[in-house]
Amino acid sequence: MSEQVFKSGFVTLIGRPNVGKSTLFNAILDKKVAIMSDKPQTTRNSIRGIYNAPGLQAVFIDTPGIHKPKHKLDQKMMESAKNSLAGCDIIFYLIDATCDFGGGEAYILQQLQGQEAAVFLIINKIDLLNDAQLLLLIDSYKDRFNFAEIVPVSALSGKNVQHLLDVLVKYLPEGPQYYPPDMVYDQSEQQLIAELVREQILHATRDEIPYAVAVTVTAMEERPGERLYIEANIYVDRESQKGIIIGKGGKMLRQIGQAARQEIEKIFACPIYLDLRVKAKKDWRNNEGLLRNWNLLDE
Ligand code: GDP
Ligand code: MG
Repeated sequence: MSEQVFKSGFVTLIGRPNVGKSTLFNAILDKKVAIMSDKPQTTRNSIRGIYNAPGLQAVFIDTPGIHKPKHKLDQKMMESAKNSLAGCDIIFYLIDATCDFGGGEAYILQQLQGQEAAVFLIINKIDLLNDAQLLLLIDSYKDRFNFAEIVPVSALSGKNVQHLLDVLVKYLPEGPQYYPPDMVYDQSEQQLIAELVREQILHATRDEIPYAVAVTVTAMEERPGERLYIEANIYVDRESQKGIIIGKGGKMLRQIGQAARQEIEKIFACPIYLDLRVKAKKDWRNNEGLLRNWNLLDE
């Protein structure tokens, strides 16, 4: 009888915005035993979810989208995305099957050069194209990088997601159980919510607004017979940036709130009332006391 080894590792999801990273993350964790938010020192990087199965544990890291930095603040974001690449065991590089290879993808492949982790090319949204189109797409990618695997999936419908996990297991090294197998939400619930809101701000504002946005959850209340009430503050650097987040007639903020609420509801599996407030806090990134309060500093 052979000795059963425990396998574990960290899997980072990367790719341009909107390719379906968060959808895949949720699809994988639907089969989950537990999910949790990131540790305080990395809350601005990513969200972690734990996938447990007999004999293995994979910790998935969902990163904000990667795109070519246009200004300094983008660069900071890119650095944190790159940090989550370093030290992970496997990289899931997601692309949108309906998009042809372009500059954005070339940029990411360039970032992947020299990474030690095995890189999976995950072609997402295959529900939107036929087999012939898929083959052409695979052809256009396969020689651009030494991919460990190329796996087409539909994160939205769940198609091939289990297969992806089965393939992944082969690449997980022998390793410890990093988290208890029954890990549930703990005090980091609020960090998770803040991160989900912040992610939607990045989505909605793209290049217009700097990544100098911080989100803190200020209240969470279960009100009998009502939705779970969550209040969060969105902090920006300057008074003038408030208007960008709020948008014309509050349109942008509504859009951010709605998208964030949907993401939070997916994870918490209950109806949410999300109350977002936008505040300016001049130069908050240089305010050590604030940063510490918001759990944005390393230990
Ligand atoms: P992210 O920015 O990479 O995290 O992308 P999201 O997960 O937020 O997804 C962006 C959009 O693509 C959403 O509207 C998703 O519903 C949609 N999407 C994600 N996966 C699929 C898929 O497999 N098929 C289709 N048709 N749409 C998808
Ligand atoms: Mg996402």
